[in-house]
Amino acid sequence: MSDDPETAERKMRFLFALRQRGVTDPRVLEAMERIDRGEFVRGHFEDRAYDDTPLPIPCGQTISQPSVVGLMTQALEVGPRDKVLEIGTGSGYQAAVLSLLCRRVYTIDRHRRLVAEAEALFRHLGLPNITALVADGSRGLPEQAPFDRIMVTAAAEDPPGPLLAQLKIGGIMVVPVGQSDAVQTLIRVRRGESGFDYDELRQVRFVPLVEGLGQT
Ligand code: SAH
Repeated sequence: MSDDPETAERKMRFLFALRQRGVTDPRVLEAMERIDRGEFVRGHFEDRAYDDTPLPIPCGQTISQPSVVGLMTQALEVGPRDKVLEIGTGSGYQAAVLSLLCRRVYTIDRHRRLVAEAEALFRHLGLPNITALVADGSRGLPEQAPFDRIMVTAAAEDPPGPLLAQLKIGGIMVVPVGQSDAVQTLIRVRRGESGFDYDELRQVRFVPLVEGLGQT
């Protein structure tokens, strides 16, 4: 499908903005070129899909800023054989980007509606290696553990213990940490033979990780 000139121009600016903000990994850039963010943003905000800004999605949640998606994906150092867990499906955009870089993505959200809409999009886009589930992601997904990589796209006060426990030795987790209504710090956790190493990547702002299932 070819885009009209205006859309093509917006998509070019989108990729340029990613590079400018530090997304330099060619595999990540290619995945973000292939997954059209426009598919994941509906209604009022559709014409801002290629701006480097977070946007509202149903259930009072947000689709993350594209450069943050790129930087988090890059920080996760995903390999083609990896099994990845994402907490916070939201629109499904981040899971779709990850799915092009790894073997399988499990993505969890506490809102049934978001999971149903994301699943429909994964089918429509032909992304067969994503499994989306309704659950409280702060408990992880013990049936499929351990994971090579875990990405959390909602802010926790501390990295949730069950998620740390479900990370393989040699695995990496990226998670925003801090008070829910303040600026948070994105951290990368590496699990080694003898424990966890943490490094702070940047300041971010995410919706909070909330326990239990949502109403819708
Ligand atoms: N990654 C998403 C954006 C995530 S917004 C995207 O690409 O669009 C954060 C999401 O985390 C919201 O959809 C919210 O419902 C979800 N969430 C918050 N707490 C959760 C929990 N305990 N378990 C699962 N999902 C949770």
